[in-house]
Amino acid sequence: MPLSPLHIETPLLRTSADYSKSGLPLWLKLDALQPSGSFKLRGVGLLCQHEVAKGAKEIFCASGGNAGIAAAVAGKALGVPVTIVVPETTSAEVRTRIAATGAKVMVHGSVFDEANAHAVALAAERKAAYVHPYDHPLLWEGHATLIDEVVKSGAEFDCVVTSVGGGGLLAGIVEGLRRNGLSDVPVIAVETEGAASFHAAALAGERVTLPAITSIANSLGARQVAQHVFDLLETHPIESVTVTDAEAVAACLKFADAQRILVEPACGAALAVTDVHADRLSRFKAPLIEVCGGIGVSLAALEAWRARFL
Ligand SMILES: *Cc1c(COP(=O)(O)O)cnc(C)c1O
Repeated sequence: MPLSPLHIETPLLRTSADYSKSGLPLWLKLDALQPSGSFKLRGVGLLCQHEVAKGAKEIFCASGGNAGIAAAVAGKALGVPVTIVVPETTSAEVRTRIAATGAKVMVHGSVFDEANAHAVALAAERKAAYVHPYDHPLLWEGHATLIDEVVKSGAEFDCVVTSVGGGGLLAGIVEGLRRNGLSDVPVIAVETEGAASFHAAALAGERVTLPAITSIANSLGARQVAQHVFDLLETHPIESVTVTDAEAVAACLKFADAQRILVEPACGAALAVTDVHADRLSRFKAPLIEVCGGIGVSLAALEAWRARFL
C-alpha cells in the first residue's frame, strides 16, 4: 500500500485579470500553506518516508532553511530523531527556530559545503538517512505532486512560473508535467540577480559555479544547480529569467496585502515575473505560479527590506 503523504493538498487560487501587469488571470498554487511553510515538505517528506521504510532510525540534513524545517516536520511525523547541521554563519534566530521543531541543531564548519559534508559523513557512519536540499530523484518525485494536484483540480494552465535555487523544485515541476502528459507546457524559471546559477548555466551552456551569492533571497542561494536540472534544458521548454531583489521584495509586499500571506523573497521572485516580465507572459492565456513560500520572513523582515529596497 502506498504511504499516505506527509504534505497537504494546497489551495489553488484564481486572480482577476488586473491583478498583475500581465493582464492575465493567474493560477496561484499556495504551497506557502504547507505545514513546513514551503513546498519542500512534498519531496523531503517522501524521501524521509522511503528511508524510514528501508530501516533508517535517524535523519540528517544540512540546511538552516526550508529543507531543514521540512526534514524536522517529516521526522516528527515518522517518529524518528532529526539532526540539522548548520554552518557557523547560520543566525541564532534560525537555530532557535529549528530547535523549536524538536530537531537537534549541530553547528559545523564556516560554510554550507562544510556543514553538508559533515551531515553526509555522520549519516553514513550511523546508517541514518541523509536529506539533500535539492539533488535527489525522490525529492523531484515528491515535488511533482503539486502538478498532480493542479491537474486533478481541472484547472487549465499553459505555462508554469517557478523560483529556482538548486533546481529541485524545477525538476519536480518538469516531472509532474511529464507524468500528466503535459511535456509541451513551458516553465519559466526565475532567480534573483546575485543568486542566478541556473541563468548563468543556461547562458554559458555548461554548469557554472557562482563565486558568491549576493542576493537576499537565500533560499535561492545554490552556487551551482544540480546536473539533472541543467540537463532538463535539453529536454523541456524552460525559459530562464531574473528579477532584482527589490522586485522580489515588492512582489512579497503586494502578495501580502492582496492575499494576507507572508512569503520569502525567494518566492517573491516568481510572483514578480507577472509584473516585471509582463510582455514575456503575454503569449500565454493562463499562467500557473508556484507560490513556494518559505519560513525566512516576518512582518519585521518585510518592513526592513521595504526600507532598504523601495
Ligand atoms: C528551496 C526553496 C526554493 C528553491 O528550491 P530549489 O529546489 O533549491 O530550486 C525556492 N523557494 C523557497 C521558499 C525554498 O525553500
